Amino acid sequence: MDVQVLETDYLVIGSGAMGMAFVDTLLAETDANIIMVDLHAKPGGHWNNAYPFVTLHQPSKFYGVGSKELSKGRIDKIGFNAGLNELATGAEVSAYFDEVMKQHFLGSGRVKYYPMCKYTGDNSFVSMTSGQIFNVKVNKRLVDATYLKTSVPSTHTPNFSIADGVNFIALNQLPTITHPPELYVVIGGGKTGIDACLWLLENQVNPDDICWIMPRDAWLMDRRNTQPTAEFFSDTIGAQADQMEALANAESVDDLFNKLEDKGVLVRLDKSVKPEMYHGATISQQELSQLRRIKQVLRKGRVTHQGGIKLC
Ligand SMILES: Cc1cc2nc3c(=O)[nH]c(=O)nc-3n(C[C@H](O)[C@H](O)[C@H](O)COP(=O)(O)OP(=O)(O)OC[C@H]3O[C@@H](n4cnc5c(N)ncnc54)[C@H](O)[C@@H]3O)c2cc1C
Repeated sequence: MDVQVLETDYLVIGSGAMGMAFVDTLLAETDANIIMVDLHAKPGGHWNNAYPFVTLHQPSKFYGVGSKELSKGRIDKIGFNAGLNELATGAEVSAYFDEVMKQHFLGSGRVKYYPMCKYTGDNSFVSMTSGQIFNVKVNKRLVDATYLKTSVPSTHTPNFSIADGVNFIALNQLPTITHPPELYVVIGGGKTGIDACLWLLENQVNPDDICWIMPRDAWLMDRRNTQPTAEFFSDTIGAQADQMEALANAESVDDLFNKLEDKGVLVRLDKSVKPEMYHGATISQQELSQLRRIKQVLRKGRVTHQGGIKLC
């Protein structure tokens, strides 16, 4: 098969949130033309592999591309985020990026999109469905929008061994459960582990039937302090001011985090345990009180072997 030669101003690898936002800005601020390449069949990057019950953890208003609003401007009325600005679901985020691609990008006539294609270096990419190889003459820039290397449980293999007979699943499969196990063991104390625990609690699992393995506790942002609308002005801007004051007055990193907690900017699951990570995950007070119902929290480092429920 002959190599197909293409020409463009910008060759963008990746149509995740970063690639999409970059191209959106190029369309708004230049008259450049663009080729986008992605391994996935649809834009949106890791949202293609997300678990069915995933949502943004920050209000929808903060997310997406400049030319189109993702938020519908609603306050959630039900669930653990009730009273706060809505969090788009994974399906909403995917549909949003799909629409931006179809209506705005492709509709502009300046973007050519190559899904199901792997960039292989030297301005070349290959179609995974047809095997066609493309080489691109790039007039301005090659842009790597894969830099964050986002990894989600459904696409990476665990770095611990799993004993025979252990029913080990990525949280994408939680909604396929038909018979309650003796115990749910959730591994990981970050946003994904939090989502797994909240989903179980929301689905009537008794907190005593959950064992949560937490290699490190996390500092978490109180979501009330990251609200984009006027009724939360004093929470959100107040928290910014508190943050500046804490930064100015802190005498050490520990002191800074203590001051941020005293002001309610940051929260933690258990007041008696010092968090050792801060990845910017955001949580509501309702979610926090739900998570505190789980009493079997195992803080014994990282899992090296999953031997089943005997762990607890
Ligand atoms: C569950 C979850 C919830 C999150 N919630 C929020 C939130 O509420 N707010 C927030 O700001 N952030 C959130 N994030 C952070 C999130 O990582 C970023 O918001 C953003 O989606 C990352 O986009 P990205 O384009 O950098 O990466 P990705 O989404 O990983 O996109 C990279 C793309 O590059 C493609 N690619 C890689 N290599 C190649 C190759 N060789 N050839 C072709 N294509 C290639 C991949 O197929 C992929 O589509 C969340 C993350 C997760 C996992």
